[in-house]
Amino acid sequence: MSKIDEKLQPVLDEVLRRNAGEAEFHQAVHEVLESLGRVVAKHPDYANHALIERICEPERQIIFRVPWVDDAGQVQINRGFRVQFNSALGPYKGGIRFHPSVNLGIIKFLGFEQIFKNALTGMPIGGGKGGSDFNPRGRSDGEIMRFCQAFMTELQRHLGEYTDVPAGDIGVGGREIGYMFGQYKRLTNRYEAGVLTGKGLVYGGSRARTEATGFGLVYFVQQMLATKGAALDGKRVVVSGSGNVAIYAIDKVRQFGGKVLACSDSNGYVLDEAGIDLDLLREVKEIRRERLSDYVRMKGATAHYIEGGSIWDVPCDVALPCATQNELTGKDATTLIKNGVQLVGEGANMPSTPDAVDLFHQNGVMFAPGKAANAGGVATSALEMQQNASRDSWTFEKTEDRLAQIMRGIHDNCAATADEYSAPGNYVLGANIAGFARVAEAMQSLGV
Ligand code: GLU
Repeated sequence: MSKIDEKLQPVLDEVLRRNAGEAEFHQAVHEVLESLGRVVAKHPDYANHALIERICEPERQIIFRVPWVDDAGQVQINRGFRVQFNSALGPYKGGIRFHPSVNLGIIKFLGFEQIFKNALTGMPIGGGKGGSDFNPRGRSDGEIMRFCQAFMTELQRHLGEYTDVPAGDIGVGGREIGYMFGQYKRLTNRYEAGVLTGKGLVYGGSRARTEATGFGLVYFVQQMLATKGAALDGKRVVVSGSGNVAIYAIDKVRQFGGKVLACSDSNGYVLDEAGIDLDLLREVKEIRRERLSDYVRMKGATAHYIEGGSIWDVPCDVALPCATQNELTGKDATTLIKNGVQLVGEGANMPSTPDAVDLFHQNGVMFAPGKAANAGGVATSALEMQQNASRDSWTFEKTEDRLAQIMRGIHDNCAATADEYSAPGNYVLGANIAGFARVAEAMQSLGV
């Protein structure tokens, strides 16, 4: 990791001291503080308001027990979290993750990233994140429903359309949001559609929300390429993951004329010389909820499943990490660079390790950080809140147009901010500074 400005080192030291053992949270704070050194030099007044110190400390952290009954009649206990990180710009907004790796440090890193991401969208949303160490893999539909209900039974008291508005993340899709919304409605006796986003279309969801993160990522990538007079047309693309973000990133890459050669799950990756067959991928993952190895079994000849291998070994022009945090290491970055990668765009949250990001920057690889490039999901969540508030429902075309416009705005803001701070092409710096500036201005205006 590179150096932190000497004025900010005590802030980082304090974050490390207060949040011992939360490695991912430290990593996320470190990366933002690295960028903010230049801001402190330009705005010495920020120090008087302790703005950076305040932004690193969540407004509220909720940890709760989630008891539920499995299909065998056995009571199971999981732990639930909601970190309400910053509400300077609007109600806390951010997803809920169900994954066995979830702990407070992971939710805090995600909540911290969400503050800047949400600010970049230009929409009136603060930052938060939640989740549970519940593992949905292999659980029946009934078990998923009972878990979601138990989770919401406690969480509901902390939510509200003007307070905190969760959505999905890893392990939480439309089905889980439906069960949680149902429980919220039952317990509160309020049809408060704006309390959750990512809802189904028939009960207040927005068109294009499912597609938004993946589509938004590819719009962002297309904008970056355009600054070099290039485009996705004809490019070889590798997309890690095979969840919601990956599937719709693959869809949009194909619409722009790119060819997606590989995608992955936690056991390995699929390499399909013919280009990933999106209909088959959706059938395997969204309808059958099966493993990726099933794709190969059904596709035959052109597809291979490489068990345990790194998807970043596949030579490509554009790499889109869309699986999870720290999935792309310095070693993977070295391989990608050796194989001629031109651009890396993060669809997941913080999927590249700090040394990987340094290597991309040092080797002239265009790099889009997740907090800018994957902001299309939460931006479209804000559009869903807007539709709920006005009891309206927009067409797919109108919603996608707004998404494309928002992604262009984020791209241009990051690029212009990087230029202003004498770091042209550094989207990490641009995103961190532009996101921070909006939140800092609001925090300063609202007083201590
Ligand atoms: N989980 C998504 C993210 O990381 C979406 C959050 C939302 O829509 O509130 O941004």
